[in-house]
Amino acid sequence: MSSQYVARTLETVKKRYPEENEFHQAVSEVLGSLVPVMEKNKEFEEAGILERLTEPERQIIFMVPWVDDNGKVHVNRGIRVQYNSALGPYKGGIRFHPSVNTSIIKFLGFEQIFKNSLTGLMLGGGKGGADFDPKGKSNNEIMRFCQSFMTELYRHIDADTDVPAGDIGVGAREIGFMFGHYKRIKNIFNGVLTGKGLLYGGSLARTEATGYGCVYFCDEMLRDRKTGFENKKLVISGSGNVAVYAAQKAQSLGAKVIAMSDSGGYVYDEEGIKLDLIKNLKEVERKRINEYAKEVKNAKYGENCFDIWNIPCDIAMPCATQNELDANAARQLIKNGCMAVVEGANMPSTPEAEKVFTDAKIAYGPGKAANAGGVSTSGLEMSQNSQRLSWTFDEVDAKLHSIMINIYAAIKNAAAEYNTPDNLANGANIAAFLKVARAMLAQGL
Ligand code: NDP
Repeated sequence: MSSQYVARTLETVKKRYPEENEFHQAVSEVLGSLVPVMEKNKEFEEAGILERLTEPERQIIFMVPWVDDNGKVHVNRGIRVQYNSALGPYKGGIRFHPSVNTSIIKFLGFEQIFKNSLTGLMLGGGKGGADFDPKGKSNNEIMRFCQSFMTELYRHIDADTDVPAGDIGVGAREIGFMFGHYKRIKNIFNGVLTGKGLLYGGSLARTEATGYGCVYFCDEMLRDRKTGFENKKLVISGSGNVAVYAAQKAQSLGAKVIAMSDSGGYVYDEEGIKLDLIKNLKEVERKRINEYAKEVKNAKYGENCFDIWNIPCDIAMPCATQNELDANAARQLIKNGCMAVVEGANMPSTPEAEKVFTDAKIAYGPGKAANAGGVSTSGLEMSQNSQRLSWTFDEVDAKLHSIMINIYAAIKNAAAEYNTPDNLANGANIAAFLKVARAMLAQGL
């Protein structure tokens, strides 16, 4: 029985990795959608596809020693999980955050397989990171850390093998330091990382891509409900790369973003968030979001970042981190009239919150589909690097837009085909899985 196959696989994962809760959560979310697929396609069970998909092809754990500005030695742990290469070279970001461990990197790497499949590009799945906290570090400390991280990572990556990018705590500055060090020790200038600076092989629109992509995806969902962004009130959690550019695109389509956050708290500005001020605070001055409320008289600051979901809005976009939106928050959003939740972050809604959204039949765009614009544009950066060409902003943006439209159509069709027409999370898991599984079958064991 195929539902037994799914249950057995999940059991094995939990037994083999007993401490890895985020990883269990991600696997259980995807496998939960696949029962009818397994029933219809017995060949997947015969080929052990689920066992092979849940076990990473390779995991690398390494020491990252570095010296701070006072000469004190620190040691962090670096991780790279090369999850699945059925569709292309491993591809997925690097996260620097104190919470990083194998559970978090494996959940992200596992999600990445399916997200990358949805993009329609030739990309396998991987993820990496370190339990390093970039907050409060000087530029030189960040550079030394990135160099030490790359001193080991360079052995495992290459433009045709594994192509990392940024994630939480890793932006253009960190990618620059890592790229410079890779080039120095390997003596190769190629597209081994994406999210590079524009002067040395980066793609226009990569910075904006995840946030813009999320809004393009949401626009498709709204269109299906005969509405659009015009005059909608948005609450967006986070104030990093994804959040800022989601806010920018939504504002340009006529929406009003009324609240944003960081891990310290949230700001609520009824008149609409002044994005230039947020960008300056977060991208240039690297300050906390509470500074916004000091500069904007009518803005309010709240100290618990998760309370942002209590603010009434039409559309909620969680763009900060995993499990930032629980069932209570989900119920509150619905009670306040929220009609759409679109995930910019990876797995920001707990399973219970996801159930609240699907039961209420509001528009719910799961992260692996809605935030796939970032990796899609990384894929476009890889294409430009291979061709030694740079496309214009408008060219890249147009390609990104059409990828997001295609993702929406593909997952909507898959959801309908498997008799859950309103459930885009099911549709995303099924459409993504079928492509990866068929490629794995074709390539043998
Ligand atoms: P950034 O580091 O640029 O920004 C992260 C934002 O989230 C910051 O405002 C940060 O606040 C906040 N945040 C981080 N951790 C927590 C926490 N534990 N609780 C509350 N807030 C938190 O990262 P990105 O914008 O790149 O990434 C955000 C999310 O989007 C992540 O889930 C990432 O995996 C996902 N994503 C990113 C892509 C990309 O292209 N960058 C692509 C696809 C998905 P503070 O500054 O206080 O830490």
